[in-house]
Amino acid sequence: MGKIGFWQLLLDDRVSYWEAQSINAAHDAADVAAGAAQAAQFKAHNIETRVNNMAREIVFLRTALTVLVKTLKDSKVLDERLLDARLEAAMEEAAASLPKQPTGPVSMNEVLASSQGTPASVKLTCIRCRHEVPASSTLMTMDGPMCERCPT
Ligand SMILES: [Zn+2]
Repeated sequence: MGKIGFWQLLLDDRVSYWEAQSINAAHDAADVAAGAAQAAQFKAHNIETRVNNMAREIVFLRTALTVLVKTLKDSKVLDERLLDARLEAAMEEAAASLPKQPTGPVSMNEVLASSQGTPASVKLTCIRCRHEVPASSTLMTMDGPMCERCPT
């Protein structure tokens, strides 16, 4: 349903001013939510493109490094065992200096909870069973939050 306009409100006595305001406000909120969803989708698409590009670069770098090491070893200009030992030591050092692998959020709700600064212990009412459950154990459906226990 679209927004209720001024003339429609004036001429149709089935709609009160308050109802029209509520419907229009809900309409605006839906527009805002749709816009936010679109922005998030765009952002996710950008990140996906970047990850794909980085994956391609890693493949190229790995190939180049493999060819380089193989060529060096075949040319016998250096001690193969020394190269291996040095590479291994350098790799270990590099791995140790890397930041610990982050354990990313598991569910969309954790993402939402962290981005909004609300604790994950927020309770939501499941639309199916009407139980109050932690937001982190719910799935967002078209109709609202549903707990993970409820079959979809
Ligand atoms: Zn439920």
